[in-house]
Amino acid sequence: MFKKILIANRGEIALRVIRACRQLGIKTVAIHSTADRDSLHVKLADESVCVGPAPSSKSYLNIPSILSAAEVTGSDAVHPGYGFLAENYEFAKRTQECGMKFIGPSPHNIELMGDKIKAKQIVKDLGIPLIPGSYAKVKTENDALAIASDISFPVILKAALGGGGRGMRIISHESELRKSLSLVRNEVLAHFGSSDIYIEKYLNKPRHIEVQIVADQDGHVIHLGERECSVQRNYQKILEEAPCSFISDDMKSKILQDAVKIASSINYQSVGTIEFLFQDDTYYFIEMNTRIQVEHPVTEMVTGIDLVKTQIQIACGAKLNESFSDVQFKGHAMECRINAEDPETLMPYPGEIHDYHVPGGVGVRVDAALYNGCEVQPFYDSLIAKLIVHGDNRNEVINKMRNALDEYVIGGIKTNIHLFRKILKDPEFVQGNLNTSYLKRFLKV
Ligand code: ADP
Repeated sequence: MFKKILIANRGEIALRVIRACRQLGIKTVAIHSTADRDSLHVKLADESVCVGPAPSSKSYLNIPSILSAAEVTGSDAVHPGYGFLAENYEFAKRTQECGMKFIGPSPHNIELMGDKIKAKQIVKDLGIPLIPGSYAKVKTENDALAIASDISFPVILKAALGGGGRGMRIISHESELRKSLSLVRNEVLAHFGSSDIYIEKYLNKPRHIEVQIVADQDGHVIHLGERECSVQRNYQKILEEAPCSFISDDMKSKILQDAVKIASSINYQSVGTIEFLFQDDTYYFIEMNTRIQVEHPVTEMVTGIDLVKTQIQIACGAKLNESFSDVQFKGHAMECRINAEDPETLMPYPGEIHDYHVPGGVGVRVDAALYNGCEVQPFYDSLIAKLIVHGDNRNEVINKMRNALDEYVIGGIKTNIHLFRKILKDPEFVQGNLNTSYLKRFLKV
């Protein structure tokens, strides 16, 4: 087993990794920016190294500085968490070149699935359904117009290297496509370092269903069920649950099998997620995420499997043993992503936390890195906590989540807790009438 792991991240996921390491008797090294000196992940790790100033480009994305920190502390592995460098091919490769294990898939797999056009080509060859559109990058305006007229408007322009809900533009008619093409190209070039884009039919009411994959170094690939993540704002998930109770078992089993097929076809190793959109009784592959996801706890709650611990064990060569051949799925789980934001303007709302009170009870879990007196920094993602509940069925979970949200007090800043209280009482949500436009509809009403 590894002796010491450097965690190339911050916030709740850094804490989550520290806890998994403790379970395995592994020492931890936290990295931090100057702004994060007093953060909980720094306090709870065995060692810590400052890797740069507050802006993440100079600290949490600073590859030379992070790898130097790993070397000087004698770390034998690096856990990237999610976001930052988690899906950065260069970082994974250079970590390995420095003689340390990157806790994730091979750099090759990161590169392959990080390019959504390449990923779609692989999936197409497997005969798994794809959203109608281009299977290669769009070269010229005429190219784009031909594809769009073939699949009919509305269409969506997407960045090949896109992520985090960015780099997408819905286009309703031909003139808009003519106007937007080079604009979108420039935008995605600035954001993702490549102007490659592709086109898909815009689905107007899809559910977002994704499959948790676990694969060891010996070619054993399993799924740990699906999650539904249809409650989204600007293409970003804010509430996730497992299982998805609203598609047939037959359909579900096809989606799960196809996800395993995709991961097997690329000899995937580590945990990962295969994402699909589901509409009108058909499902379509959209992308694979080659890392631990923000929403992994809902799968942990229904399977009882510690995914981060498993990810570390697999990186160290552990096989998926018998306990994985007969995973029991139990009950229902749901996660609300608590953001530090102004409910009116939806802008991030940093500040000092006080009057912090965490909810509790059977099946209530809070993954956060908050304490009274800590500063929510303006430099990073506004996700500050994840509230996760588990119960026998969806109705029980909804009830439990309402109570947990009522108990949760985060003083000193503004958050989206009140929005979740309203969503959890909305009859549409309670009935499961969800698709990716749900939240927009709800907020309008
Ligand atoms: P990212 O990598 O940025 O998260 P994804 O491809 O995973 O992008 O898509 C994120 C979300 O964007 C989906 O869950 C869905 O809500 C929306 N989306 C993506 N492609 C389409 C599409 N063709 N039609 C409708 N919505 C889409």
